[in-house]
Amino acid sequence: MKRKTGFVWHETFMWHQQGKFSGLIPAVFPMQPGQHFENAEGKRRIKNLLDAADFTSSLTFVDSRMATDAEILRVHTAEYLEQLEIDNLLPASSAGFDAPFTTGSVDIARRAAGGAIAAAEAILSGTVDNAYALLRPAGHHAETSEGKGLCLFNNAAIAAAHVLATTDIERIAFVDVDVHHGNGAEEIFWRDPRVLTLSLHQDRWFPPNSGMTEHIGEGAGKHFNLNVPLPAGSGFGAYRAAFEQVVIPALEAYRPQMIIMPIGFDGGAQDPMGRMILSSNSYRYMAETLVGMAEKHSNGRLLLTHEGGYNESTVPFMALAAIEAIAGQTSGVVDPYGEIMDGMHGHFLLAHQQEMINQARQQVIALQQHISA
Ligand SMILES: [Zn+2]
Repeated sequence: MKRKTGFVWHETFMWHQQGKFSGLIPAVFPMQPGQHFENAEGKRRIKNLLDAADFTSSLTFVDSRMATDAEILRVHTAEYLEQLEIDNLLPASSAGFDAPFTTGSVDIARRAAGGAIAAAEAILSGTVDNAYALLRPAGHHAETSEGKGLCLFNNAAIAAAHVLATTDIERIAFVDVDVHHGNGAEEIFWRDPRVLTLSLHQDRWFPPNSGMTEHIGEGAGKHFNLNVPLPAGSGFGAYRAAFEQVVIPALEAYRPQMIIMPIGFDGGAQDPMGRMILSSNSYRYMAETLVGMAEKHSNGRLLLTHEGGYNESTVPFMALAAIEAIAGQTSGVVDPYGEIMDGMHGHFLLAHQQEMINQARQQVIALQQHISA
């Protein structure tokens, strides 16, 4: 079914820079300075592929804006925001653990957060059915009082907090499929049952020692945080099983009024920052499944926020597949990497992957019991 899909993009998102890096590491002698793995090129290539495929015109452009202090402070501390504004004037700084930036990046991050809010507002007003926010810098690692993992503001969490504060919506589900743990939303909504935070990620990769199944939230938020750590090497079979056995039953129990999907394509088979073997078909499946869940429970309200994905030539095709899936339209472009990635031996569900899914499944059962009690 053809849907009206919003699209957020702003040229300045491409102007955020980390400084002198070599892959993941600051380039100090004797490392030759080059690009950070996270750079503008992969994201720009998504936009360029949408344009080249004549698909941008199938989407509804949503204007971004700067998030206000008040909107940011629903999620982050005043001390953190003040420090960022001071550091924003410096040639090079870091928002916290592994979140480097240079002069002006905080203004760009403010627009990325505002872009997520604008996309959520367009969905809620009915201007669009769902939306893809191609934001940079990404947000899903940013916590209340510090940035992490290339993220300054938690764009998706700021959008969710905005929806909770300004509408009568009281149940939002996050399904984070970036290859790294969605630690930011977990920490921000740890005690908040109004947000079910669910993350599928490569087991104990980034941030270190986070994203375990036993981390289920606390206080009123107990049971409303679910983690599905999957072993390195997982493919479509493991992700599909995790969707069928964890994600779908959790959403059926929670009945979210809106779904937010922080989507990172670093689970792709050729990504330098992840060790999974997903393809564009895998991302198409995950996005399509969440469209179905959103249409069943959430009046179709589904917001995808762009997070990771660092192979600049493969990521655009995976992103296109996800955008086509939520728009219910096809561009006619065939992913030239698809056959290679889908042909990799390892897309079967393996026993050690099912074991991890079983552990996550126990927490879904606990959630179901908690909700029906
Ligand atoms: Zn990531």
